[in-house]
Amino acid sequence: MAKPKVGFFDFSSCEGCQIELTNYGDADFVELLNHIDIVEFREAMSEKAEHLDIACIEGSFTRKEERTRLEAIRKRSDVVISFGACASTGGINALKNHQTDFQEYVYGKDAGAAHLQSNAKALPIDGAIKVDYKVFGCPMDKYEFLNIISSLLHGKTPEIPDYPVCVECKRNETICRFQEGDHCMGMVARAGCGAPCPEAGIPCEACRGFISNPNEASLVQVLIENGMPEERARNKSRIFTNAMRSDA
Ligand code: SF4
Ligand code: SF4
Ligand code: SF4
Repeated sequence: MAKPKVGFFDFSSCEGCQIELTNYGDADFVELLNHIDIVEFREAMSEKAEHLDIACIEGSFTRKEERTRLEAIRKRSDVVISFGACASTGGINALKNHQTDFQEYVYGKDAGAAHLQSNAKALPIDGAIKVDYKVFGCPMDKYEFLNIISSLLHGKTPEIPDYPVCVECKRNETICRFQEGDHCMGMVARAGCGAPCPEAGIPCEACRGFISNPNEASLVQVLIENGMPEERARNKSRIFTNAMRSDA
């Protein structure tokens, strides 16, 4: 049987998720390369393919013109996977969606440079095209990516968790960050990472995005009840989930 043809594409991102992929020191990824044909990958090759069995897309789209490019990728691909927070939820890029002076703030005197012009909200890829599977996280979890590809290769539906990080945190018997005076968003964040942040003594910032039905009002209430100023509590979930909020 011919190996599935796979392409990798990038949009607005730091390319950190692609770097995760190019860590060829990992035996699992090297094994995966025995089962797929990478036919398009700007970071590593100049060839292009007409048809793709699987297109993997990194980055959010922040320019109207990018919609056309995304539609073209969708048209020639059987399956589309968004990988990383930027592509799957809008990620940190979506912070700009409720700001007006972000370019000056970030780039200073270079804010007017042509390549920095972004004429639309930063949105996840499924804001433009149908996405079949999403790999969450900033950066994405490489093993979750491998699991999804592996499931597809075996004709199975990949399992993507849709329950809160708190579940994994409790399983790990980690002391809740709230008990240490921190403010954690694990109750609305999508699990699948194994809750490494609370385990390391760091609150969850929901880098994997929200679960399907997050109780945003309850999150704000809990943050306020635990001493966070109201405005900060209301904005707390913007860092990785700004494009997913009910007021996005
Ligand atoms: S999800 Fe994070 S690591 Fe991946 S491209 Fe976006 S900012 Fe970079
Ligand atoms: S530390 Fe965070 S993820 Fe863990 S139980 Fe507390 S709120 Fe949930
Ligand atoms: S614990 Fe939260 S911030 Fe940490 S990796 Fe998981 S979802 Fe991301």
